[in-house]
Amino acid sequence: MVDEKLLGIIACPVCKRGLVYDKNGSRLICENCRLRYPIVDDIPIMLEDEAESY
Ligand SMILES: [Zn+2]
Repeated sequence: MVDEKLLGIIACPVCKRGLVYDKNGSRLICENCRLRYPIVDDIPIMLEDEAESY
């Protein structure tokens, strides 16, 4: 489970906008860039290279 406070301050490294937490997929989604950032061991991987486009 990712800390809700942490989620409030995390922004997309590409566009600097807020992210949507996908609890089921355990990942963070930037709807603006259409990228999905993985969460590994409860740590969001905020790297554009690691993100999956959709
Ligand atoms: Zn973005």
